[in-house]
Amino acid sequence: MVAIPTVGVLALQGAFARHAKALEACGVTTAEVRRPEHLDGVDALVLPGGESSTMSMLLERGDLFDPVAKRLADGMPALGTCAGMILLSSEILDGRPDQRCFGAVDISVRRNAYGRQVDSFEADLDLSSAGVDDPTVPFHASFIRAPVVERRGEGVTVLAEVDGRPVLCASGPVMVAAFHPELSDDLRIHRRFLEEVL
Ligand code: GLN
Repeated sequence: MVAIPTVGVLALQGAFARHAKALEACGVTTAEVRRPEHLDGVDALVLPGGESSTMSMLLERGDLFDPVAKRLADGMPALGTCAGMILLSSEILDGRPDQRCFGAVDISVRRNAYGRQVDSFEADLDLSSAGVDDPTVPFHASFIRAPVVERRGEGVTVLAEVDGRPVLCASGPVMVAAFHPELSDDLRIHRRFLEEVL
């Protein structure tokens, strides 16, 4: 029998609890990752929404940035949502000067780029190219001070877009979403990510 994988959820700040709940509903074990040694027991990592500049600072202060970067470079599957997408990107536009990213997905993202009047919005996503179950059913997605993908490299696949802008992308075992799939009861995006892990 294949062992049940353990998926780490970066739990320094932000919306990590709902991710753990969604992942457990998909049948995997979860573990909160707050210190470098917590990475040892995980097969994959979810980087949640929150505040990417604060998470970058806490990753460095906790000596966790480099160990996460090493695991990503070694091919660990990862899912980043909103601030997590910013952290996994290769270039941050309108970031804090000292803010770092892992470069796990070759995209340039602009923080908070949807502008003040649409700080938060919801959209029904067409997932017909996303390789999910029930691909004809739209995914109701919540965007909260979301980043905009302004550039993507050749190896990056767009799985969903809004107004012609990518909002769900994959690159090898790494998936990033500009929105918050964990706020929905619809588990298709978490399940799609877990195909990289199972
Ligand atoms: N605007 C936040 C940032 O720059 C991301 C918002 C979110 O994760 N909901 O990190």
